Amino acid sequence: MEKNVRVRFAPSPTGGLHIGGVRTALYNYLFAKKMGGEMILRIEDTDQTRFVEGAEEYIVEALEWIGIEIDESPANEGQYGPYRQSERKPMYMQYAQQLIDAGHAYYAFDTPEELEEMRERLKAARVPSPQYNAITRMQMKNSLTLPADEVKAKLEAGEPYVIRLKVPRKEEVRINDMVRSWVVVHSSAIDDKVLVKADGMPTYHLANVVDDHLMKITHVIRGEEWLPSAPLHVLLYKYLGWEDTMPQFAHLPLILKPTGNGKLSKRDADKLGFPIFPLDWTNQDGEFSKGYREAGYLPEALTNFLAFLGWSPGNNEEMFDLEALIEAFSVERIGKAGTKFDIDKAKWYNQQYLKEKTNAQLAEFLLPVLQEKNIECSQEKAEAICEMLKERIVFYPELWENGKYFFFEPEEYDAKVIRKKWSATAVDVLGAYAETIKTVEDYNSVSAKEILVNVLEEKGVKMGVVMQSLRVAATGEGMGPDLMSVLATLGAQEVARRIEIAIEKLADQVKD
Ligand code: GLU
Repeated sequence: MEKNVRVRFAPSPTGGLHIGGVRTALYNYLFAKKMGGEMILRIEDTDQTRFVEGAEEYIVEALEWIGIEIDESPANEGQYGPYRQSERKPMYMQYAQQLIDAGHAYYAFDTPEELEEMRERLKAARVPSPQYNAITRMQMKNSLTLPADEVKAKLEAGEPYVIRLKVPRKEEVRINDMVRSWVVVHSSAIDDKVLVKADGMPTYHLANVVDDHLMKITHVIRGEEWLPSAPLHVLLYKYLGWEDTMPQFAHLPLILKPTGNGKLSKRDADKLGFPIFPLDWTNQDGEFSKGYREAGYLPEALTNFLAFLGWSPGNNEEMFDLEALIEAFSVERIGKAGTKFDIDKAKWYNQQYLKEKTNAQLAEFLLPVLQEKNIECSQEKAEAICEMLKERIVFYPELWENGKYFFFEPEEYDAKVIRKKWSATAVDVLGAYAETIKTVEDYNSVSAKEILVNVLEEKGVKMGVVMQSLRVAATGEGMGPDLMSVLATLGAQEVARRIEIAIEKLADQVKD
């Protein structure tokens, strides 16, 4: 029988979760759900120097917002916890010891100065990338070069040391990646990575492999930037005797700048004016970054967009909510090549999902904004506004921004329309219209028009002569949704009032 699929998202709490990290989490989730497996959140916080307060909470909130459900996490302990690596510290040492005992790892006592000296020496000898490896280790201070009794004495004296992996000099390391198929790396390209630091904390490499094993992870789905670490991880599985249960790897393609020229960075996003983080984030220097959520993106639009950054369903369909993504997802359809980040596509998705919302759902976005501003608005009016604006917006905050005129009379009037259309005839018709509607009982989008048609007939004026002036008088804007619906929502008294205000304010701008 197939093993039960277990995947993990394993972020380090070092800052706001980059949008690429959200995609990694999403792919893990889609795969887990598709396979009927489990999704684990593991916090990789072994590097205390890079730990950022609040980052873990941020990650949890971001995943929740996106709709990713986690089966096991620090907050929701499963049987393989704790799920925070700093709390697992005592677990790792025995595996480092096992590697030492088997001759696959060793103690190294080199001071930072001695390591620097080695690098300088190699640089002077024109070695392109100086490394602590199968060749150089023999000139350094470690348990492979020092006599056993000296090593013992140093350990007993509590001299600081690290534990390094003894990477073989000549060996091909083969990884069967689910995205890239076979990746072959020569061990001479891998250095003797530190597995346990001087403070007794494991490094990412040791903790990651040990935890994936202990947590029974079956598939490691992560960003391409971890591909160079994969051969080292494969060696660790082999030396720890876990080769048979080693997870399958899938390294996701890079997310590229919109130009395609290199990996997308926060700087690119800042420069081009789009968010890089799912939610608002303020870093330790107090620098604020707006999140996708706060910018008005819907979680379903963002997930749909992110899913397509590196994966495609193999047909022309583009609209996939989370459920449809789970249904359609397969690792086989993840591409190898990096994908360009296209914010216009994200906006397009957002617009599509906004259009699918009911007026009542959209009103749930608008009403709290109004409440915050102490603006009274009935459910009915809010829904009517949403109905009118939904085809014309990309982000829901625009319901308020583009709909302010439903609550406040215009402060300014579209200058171009006034210049071209604010004529004596228009003013005459609008004045008569205002007078008439003041006494109308049932003012709606149909009667609003009928009354206008009557006034126009009486005066012998064509509709086109007044329509734009009426819109500007009522809203200040030159363009907008169906005017009669706008007028009906404003109500007869308010429309009449606004017309009168406009006539007065624009008295010196009337054309013949
Ligand atoms: N802690 C690593 C990160 O921050 C995890 C990489 C992995 O998934 O192995 O991305």
